Amino acid sequence: MERIGAHSHIHGLGLDANLEPRQNAQGMIGQGKARKAAGVILRMVQEGRIAGRAILMAGPPSSGKTAIAMGMAQTLGSDVPFVMLTASEVFSLEISKTESLTQAFRRSIGVRIKEETELIEGEVVEIQVDRSVTGATKTGRLTLKTTDMETVYDLGSKMIDQLQKEKVLAGDVVSIDKASGRISKLGRSFGRAKDYDAMGADTRFVACPDGELQVRKEVVHTVSLHEIDVINSRTQGFLALFAGDTGEIKPELRDQINTKVAEWREEGKAEIVPGVLFIDEVHMLDIECFSFLNRAMEGELAPLVVMASNRGITRIRGTKYKSPHGIPVDLLDRMLIISTGMYNEAEMREIVKIRADEEDVKIAEPALDLMANMATQTSLRYALNLIAPSSLLALRRKSPMVDIPDIKDAYQYFSDAVRSTAYAKEMAGMMFGEEEEEGEGGRV
Ligand code: ATP
Repeated sequence: MERIGAHSHIHGLGLDANLEPRQNAQGMIGQGKARKAAGVILRMVQEGRIAGRAILMAGPPSSGKTAIAMGMAQTLGSDVPFVMLTASEVFSLEISKTESLTQAFRRSIGVRIKEETELIEGEVVEIQVDRSVTGATKTGRLTLKTTDMETVYDLGSKMIDQLQKEKVLAGDVVSIDKASGRISKLGRSFGRAKDYDAMGADTRFVACPDGELQVRKEVVHTVSLHEIDVINSRTQGFLALFAGDTGEIKPELRDQINTKVAEWREEGKAEIVPGVLFIDEVHMLDIECFSFLNRAMEGELAPLVVMASNRGITRIRGTKYKSPHGIPVDLLDRMLIISTGMYNEAEMREIVKIRADEEDVKIAEPALDLMANMATQTSLRYALNLIAPSSLLALRRKSPMVDIPDIKDAYQYFSDAVRSTAYAKEMAGMMFGEEEEEGEGGRV
C-alpha cells in the first residue's frame, strides 16, 4: 500500500487574490478566519515585513494547525525556506538544545546567490543574427556558437518578425526560448536585475549594435545559511548535509559566514530571503529554549517563527509555573495568535472525502455520512485513520467501494482515544499500575 503523507492533499491556503478564504479550495476546508490570518501573515513575509516575529497557532487537536502551516509553505514558493520542527526534536543527545534551535533558525534563512556562471562545453556562448530582406521575403540566420561547436539555423520569418516586433535595440536584454524560438525583451539595461528576476528567466542575451546577441548566463540559486555553515565547516564537510548529521558548528564560523554574506549583499551578489520556521507541539520546549528563542528572534537574521500548540494552561517545562500553552508570558506577549476551532460535521465530511480521494479510496455516500458522524463523536484524525483499514476490509469482501459494514468493522477493530481510555480505566490496577502524574494541564 502506498504511504501517503497526512497533509499531501493540501496545496495552498485556498484564498482568493483578496485573501478571502474559499470554502473548499487547494485541499482546504473551512477554518476560514485562521486561513485568512495565515494569508495576511504570508503577505507580510513576502513583502519582507515580518521576519523576526512569532505567530502562535492555538487550537484543539486535529483542527488544522499543521495543515494551515503546510498551506503556508505551499504558498511561499520553492525558494523561500520553510522548516518544520517538532519541539521534542530539539532534545538530542548529540547536540545542545540551543545548537539545534540555531540550526533550525539558519535552515529557515535563505541566501539567494547570483552568479555569472563559467561556460561549460556544449553551452551556447554567442548568438549571431544576420537578417536580410529580399523584396517581401525576410530571411535570416541564427548562429549559436558554443565553446566547441557552431550551429547555424535558418531563421523563419516568424522569428525575424519577433525580433522586429520586440524592437530589440543595442543594450537590450532579451531571452530566447530555444524550443519555440520566442524572443522576449526583458528590459533596457543589465543593471535592474530585479525586473529580470521577476521574469524568471535565467539566461539573458544582450543585443549589440550589429544585431549580434551575446549570451550572459546568470544562475540564481538559493541555499540556506545552515547549508553554507555546513559546507564551510572543516570538521563536517558538505557530505554531512546528506547524512543530516551535522554536529555542532562553531560560533566563530557562523560569524565569518554572516560577515561574508553581508559582503555579498553589499556587492549585490546575494539577497537574504527570510523564511518560516514552524515549531509544532511548542509546549514541549523548556524555559531555556524559550529564552533562547526570545533573544534569537531579535537578531538581524531571523525567520518568521510559527508555533503550534493544542494545550491550554500548562506547566512551562523546566519551571514550576503554569502559563497559557506552556509558553512564558513575555514571549506570548510578542506573538500574534491565530486560533483554530472545531469543525462541524459537514466540514469533517468534506475533509474525509478529500483524504479518501487522495488515498484512492472510493467511499459510498452513506458510509461517508457515517464517517463524518463518527468523526464528531471521536475525532477527525481517528476517522481519517480508518480510511485505509476500511478500504482493505472492503477489498477483502471484494467490493470496489468502502461501505457501512467496512467502517463498522474497522471501528470494532481499532479503538479511538475515548474507548481506549475507558479500557485503561477498567484495567487500572491490573495492568497499568502507574501512579498518576501531576496534571500537565488540559487541552484547549
Ligand atoms: P494536533 O494539535 O493534534 O497536532 P493539528 O491542529 O495540527 O492537530 P492537523 O494535523 O493539521 O491538526 O489535522 C489533522 C488532519 O486533518 C490532517 O490530515 C490535516 O491535513 C487534515 N485537515 C485539518 N484541517 C483541515 C482543513 N481545514 N482542510 C483540509 N484538511 C484538513
